[in-house]
Amino acid sequence: ADKLLQVKNLQTHFKTRSGLVKAVDGVSFDVGTGASVGIVGESGSGKSVTSLSIMRLIEKPGFIAGGQILFQGRDVVGLSEREFRAVRGRDLALVFQDPMSALNPVYPVGKQVAESLQAHQDLNDQQAMQRAVELFAMVGISAPDRRVHDYPHKLSGGMRQRVTIAMALANEPSLLILDEPTTALDVTIQAQILDLIRDLRKRVNTSVLLITHDIGVVAETCEEVVVMYGGQVMERGTVQQVTEAPQHPYTIGLLTSIPTPGMKGRKLNTIGGAVPNPLHMPPGCPFQPRCSHAMDICATPPGLRETDGGRKVACWLYEDSAHPAVTTT
Ligand code: SF4
Ligand code: MG
Repeated sequence: ADKLLQVKNLQTHFKTRSGLVKAVDGVSFDVGTGASVGIVGESGSGKSVTSLSIMRLIEKPGFIAGGQILFQGRDVVGLSEREFRAVRGRDLALVFQDPMSALNPVYPVGKQVAESLQAHQDLNDQQAMQRAVELFAMVGISAPDRRVHDYPHKLSGGMRQRVTIAMALANEPSLLILDEPTTALDVTIQAQILDLIRDLRKRVNTSVLLITHDIGVVAETCEEVVVMYGGQVMERGTVQQVTEAPQHPYTIGLLTSIPTPGMKGRKLNTIGGAVPNPLHMPPGCPFQPRCSHAMDICATPPGLRETDGGRKVACWLYEDSAHPAVTTT
């Protein structure tokens, strides 16, 4: 009952001229009330398509081919556009990588926040603008009563991202989805925005789903992690389980490729090989072509198995402690 969001066996596919791409292929995870969950993976892992599916922003030739997305117990896949519009922006809000894509260049930023407030709440112009000033202060914008009158181009990238976060939080959503919120920003500003997200989590009663290619960002910001690869979940568990004692060979690869502070962005180690061509996914485990532990059985899908303390891992190296007798062959 305390599951705010339940994604169950989600399948999001794209019809392309060369064939069907299963960008998301059987993804399941939950976000509890008040929880912070990070989805991490390289580009092409299906993490953004997962978040866009939840927001119902998948465009043709993409479509949700199967599964359920239960938000507050209701399957949003089946809602009409009109029914869903009432949910999006009020209970569910999204922050993108590029704040400019969320801002209208020809309106002052405060007016934009005021309008998103007025779209869902009964406030007059003056009340809405006053609330916008308060929201700007909450996201750490100094001199908020002046900044609300600025146009987006007058603000730095970091300030713009603070504005889009203020706009997303305007209607006190129960779930805030952040898709690579710091990727376009330089390192110092990235750290400030992550601090802000952590700080807001303590003050605002909003669950967070953070999408990123950087497992270090998840480790600093979230309590739970979903590691995706090739459109599937490879490993899922608490931040401690997944980042301090990773089990899936792909997670181990992601963690050993985090640059250390002394090395300034240089990678210690990168995972060999490339992300598989989505039109020609290997049978079985998608990580097989890059995995140094690959065995014959890996041509059969391992499925998520529970290893320790509720952690789930899709890998034949581990036994399913919940169903030790089950074999898939
Ligand atoms: Fe490697 Fe096999 Fe595990 Fe996939 S299932 S990660 S190929 S050992
Ligand atoms: Mg992306």
